[in-house]
Formats: sequence, C-alpha cells, structure tokens
Amino acid sequence: MKIGVVGGGINGLCCAWELARRGHAVRLFERDHLMQATSRATSKLLHGGLRYIEHGEFRLVREALHERDAWLRRAPHLAHPLHLVVPQYAGARRGRLTIGLGLWIYDRLAGDSALAGHRHLPATELLRRLPGLRRDGLRGGYEFSDAQMDDYRLGMWVAEQARQAGVRIGEGEEVIRCDEQGGVSTVAGEHRFDRVLNVAGPWAGALLQRSGLTAPVRLDLVRGSHLILDRVCEQALLLEVPGEKRIFFVLPWKGHTLVGTTEVRQGLDEAIAPSAEEEHSLLRAYGHYFPAETPVVVERFAGVRPLLAGAANPSDASREYVIHRSGRLITVFGGKWTTAMALAQRVAGLAS
Ligand SMILES: Cc1cc2nc3c(=O)[nH]c(=O)nc-3n(C[C@H](O)[C@H](O)[C@H](O)COP(=O)(O)OP(=O)(O)OC[C@H]3O[C@@H](n4cnc5c(N)ncnc54)[C@H](O)[C@@H]3O)c2cc1C
Repeated sequence: MKIGVVGGGINGLCCAWELARRGHAVRLFERDHLMQATSRATSKLLHGGLRYIEHGEFRLVREALHERDAWLRRAPHLAHPLHLVVPQYAGARRGRLTIGLGLWIYDRLAGDSALAGHRHLPATELLRRLPGLRRDGLRGGYEFSDAQMDDYRLGMWVAEQARQAGVRIGEGEEVIRCDEQGGVSTVAGEHRFDRVLNVAGPWAGALLQRSGLTAPVRLDLVRGSHLILDRVCEQALLLEVPGEKRIFFVLPWKGHTLVGTTEVRQGLDEAIAPSAEEEHSLLRAYGHYFPAETPVVVERFAGVRPLLAGAANPSDASREYVIHRSGRLITVFGGKWTTAMALAQRVAGLAS
C-alpha cells in the first residue's frame, strides 16, 4: 500500500519505520525539521511512569515498562538504565507505604525486566550520596530503575532506520489539509494514498479542523518546561513539589542538572517557551530540597503535551493514546515518547 504520514516527531517516525518494515511504500511529511517539537523537549526518560499508577493506568504503565526495556535493547548507544531515588520526608503527601506499594506494583508490571527492582535506602545513605540534600524531616527513601535517553539523537536514529527501510522523508513540507479518501494537500501539490496517518502530535486536532473534519477526541494541550542548571547531578531524584501533589524530576544531563517539569494549559497560538513564573517555581522547588545551593540556569526549554482531554487538573489528565480510523485516514491522539514503537505497531495493524 501507499501510505502518507503527517508529522516527523517520534510517533510519526516510528509509524513510518514500522509500516516500511511491513513492506508498504511510505512518504512522511514534516512541516519543519524532524524531531524539533515535543519529542525533543522531554524529561529524557524512557519510563513506565510511576505516577500513572496513582491514576490506575496499569495498561499504559505495563506497555511503557516493556517499551522502556525494548529501547534499551534496540539502541544501547543512546539509552541507558537510570537509578532514581524518591526521598521520603515527614509530612509528605505520599507516605512510605504509598510509595512502597506503588513501586511494588511498578516492579510487577515490569515483568521479567533485566533492570533492578526497588529497594529502601536509609537517610544516611541518601545524605552520603547527596550531602546538600535537605535534612529536616528526611526519613530515608526508595531507589528504583528506569532509563534515560537522548531524545533528539534517538529520534534521529529512528529516522535513519526509517530511511534505510525505504521511507521517503520530506522536511519543510506542511500538510495543509487531508481527507478520508486518502488525499493530502501541500503547497507543492496534491497526493493520493491508500492510507493517511495524522501523527501531528499536539497539532493533530488542528489539522483535522483545517481539513473540515470532526475530531472524535479532544486534546488537552499542556506545556511542560525544563531548566538545565550549571551543576553536576550526583543522583537522579523524583520529588514532590513542596505543598503540591505534583512531582518533578532532578536528573543528570550531559554533565549538568535537568529540572522539570511544569504543567500549564496553553493554546497552539501561544509561544512554546518557559514563562518566568515556571522558571521561578522550578527554581523554588529545587531550592527547597537543596537549600544551600544557588544554581545558575544555563538553558531552558518547553514542549506541549498532547493529552486526552477530560481531567479538570492537567496533572490528572490521562497519558493514554487513542488511534482513530475514519475511511482511509488514521489519526493518533496523545502518546508518550516511550510507547511510540508500541503505538506504531497498533497503527500498522489498523492500517493493513
Ligand atoms: C515537558 C514534557 C516532558 C515529557 N517527558 C517525557 C518523557 O520523559 N518520556 C516520555 O516517554 N514522554 C515524555 N513526554 C511526552 C512525549 O514527549 C510526547 O508525547 C511525544 O514526544 C509526542 O510525539 P509526537 O510525535 O506525537 O509529537 P511531536 O514530537 O510534537 O511531533 C509532531 C510533528 O508534527 C509536525 N506537524 C504538525 N502539523 C503538521 C502539518 N500540518 N504538516 C506537517 N507536519 C506537521 C510538527 O512540526 C512536529 O514535528 C513529555 C512531553 C512533554 C511536553
């Protein structure tokens, strides 16, 4: 079959690669450059998403944990295991039992993963690893495994695999409209396909709207910002934002410290950049746990999550994805970086 793919983020690239591997003639349209949008503005984690257990998203977490391990096998040069610690403080929203139970479930959902299961650490061990960590109320913590990637380079590696499998990739090719009969319009002309995949991430709904089609699913667009601080990170951490239910990460990143993320609803007409308020709140949260430090921000970036609408609070919005087919047009709504290959396999199944 001739298949057109709209979107050169991780989900579009994985779909294109998978379909080409199955013998289809695939052409991908990216309006900008590959991997320039959401897919390179992540927390750089290949993870199951411990937090999603709180929302009962067991299917997603199981799939993501399986995919985390699959990426580690697929591209060990661009992804590596990462041990994170969740410190436990007196008065935290999630107590020792809650975190311990969540991690027990996380390990069960990971099945026969080669990564180490969780374990409890005494406060003395945490302070040995991180002498600058806040001491007041520190009760110890849990260590668990996930993985870290270079999102941009790993995505470009996928693009290279897709090219080698025969995908024709066009950058600077914006799709102006598409239809349910396999039509795709760009400035350069009209194209006809047996299937068209709308994998435009946060812009998937907007493309349908421009095409005069009704979106069966509404996206909640939630910006997330990160800061890179001028210091070496000795230990990856998952922390509660002081006084809030939200969590944030402090992670090692290329000899520096990556801190993120935030959750702010936004429209597609607004700039995708961290606001001064987000920067301030991330620095405040970091400073709460490292009170003696005065870090300097060396870089900042933001991305927009394409989440399934429905939750009052963006923190509670589902990280699941929906694949919808109408005639020859298939649209992807949502989708984590980690699960992009699993999503691609489902899309390929539906396209055939
Ligand atoms: C702050 C933040 C942190 C995150 N952290 C993680 C994490 O650590 N781990 C994880 O697994 N997931 C993470 N995610 C989620 C993950 O990044 C996204 O779900 C995923 O990258 C979405 O990929 P995508 O390909 O669907 O979208 P995108 O990467 O946005 O790609 C869509 C592409 O479509 C193109 N496009 C749009 N409209 C058109 C058009 N009309 N014609 C042609 N091209 C078009 C765009 O230019 C873009 O390149 C995070 C997300 C955010 C925002």
